Amino acid sequence: MSSLSTVGPLGDSPVQIACPNCHQIVLSKVDYSAGLLTYIFCGGLFFCGFVLGCCLIPFCVDRLKDAKHTCPICKTVLGVYKRL
Ligand SMILES: [Zn+2]
Repeated sequence: MSSLSTVGPLGDSPVQIACPNCHQIVLSKVDYSAGLLTYIFCGGLFFCGFVLGCCLIPFCVDRLKDAKHTCPICKTVLGVYKRL
């Protein structure tokens, strides 16, 4: 379940949303950041095969990252989609 309260369900891709700050209907800007799952995934790979250096791969995979939605106009953070 999502822990978001005011802006409704957010996914990991841009959504059209009413910004609570500037009251414009905007297409949210999504920034991906390495979240908890990324580190867990990285840690798992690290213990399984760090020799291959593949523990760095998750940081390149947006699918494993948290998606932060921001308003493109006023830069207000509209919500964060977490993988966990
Ligand atoms: Zn705004």
